[in-house]
Amino acid sequence: MDDRPLAPADLVGLSARAAVSAATQVLAVNDPSGAPGDARRLLLHALAIDTLDYVKHPDRPLDASDAELYSASLMRRCAGEPVSRISGWRGFYGREFQITPATLDPRPETETLVDAALQLAAARWPAGRELEIADIGTGSGCLLLTLLAELPLARGVGIDISSAALAVAASNATRLGVAERCTWVEGRNFANREPTAQLVVSNPPYIPTPDLASLSRDVRLYDPSTALDGGVDGLDVYREIASELTAHVASGWVLFEVGDGQALDVLSIVRQAVPARRIVRSEIHLDMAEKQRCVAFQIQD
Ligand code: GLN
Repeated sequence: MDDRPLAPADLVGLSARAAVSAATQVLAVNDPSGAPGDARRLLLHALAIDTLDYVKHPDRPLDASDAELYSASLMRRCAGEPVSRISGWRGFYGREFQITPATLDPRPETETLVDAALQLAAARWPAGRELEIADIGTGSGCLLLTLLAELPLARGVGIDISSAALAVAASNATRLGVAERCTWVEGRNFANREPTAQLVVSNPPYIPTPDLASLSRDVRLYDPSTALDGGVDGLDVYREIASELTAHVASGWVLFEVGDGQALDVLSIVRQAVPARRIVRSEIHLDMAEKQRCVAFQIQD
């Protein structure tokens, strides 16, 4: 007996559209609002087609291997695995990023930092002219690569402690056509690099260790804990990076993503670590849920 909610035998021969509608009903039991989108995205993944193919050929029937793959994907989704983890892809700022178990799954709220960085760049480094960017803890590369794609003259370096994550970022760079403008460094924080970047961005691990166990399943089970765990109060990595700022940033802007309620703590960590005369201004940016999500400050020589 096959006790999967939708076994391959239930799916084979169905049209793509009919398969999505059957899958939507199954997924709606756990998540009514997300079900239609999830069912469609997983079908595109199983059939290795894009949205346009699906819209143009909704009557295409599922063959045995399509049905097997779709059934297995639906099973994983029913068990709570995020669609991005099943498909290995996540949309971020309008582009698709490959993700693996070595990388954090980029989140929509991280686009707040991208918007803030692009506003600064538009005012000071149009199109990224004479701009070098450093991304600390680059993961899938979503921050650095989005900025390089949006700023065609900028260059950048992505730093990460995980060589497996750097390999994913490098492959995303190639697919997005920006590989010749970026380099990758395995290491912690600034990894002893010369202070050549004018824009430093980072979405460091910021979850307090005691909170890790109570995170939702889709985070706790599928994101690498090294990308989440920020130490006892969640602020350890900000302290580490702040202690290196004086030596590694000559002049320019630093933008950090922060967790809920951390913005003022992070600003005070930076103010303690960097001489007051070197901090010219600081800003806090809100995400779409009106939460303080990004702190930015300008450092001068
Ligand atoms: N920079 C990556 C992101 O924002 C990875 C961040 C991390 O691993 N903490 O998705």
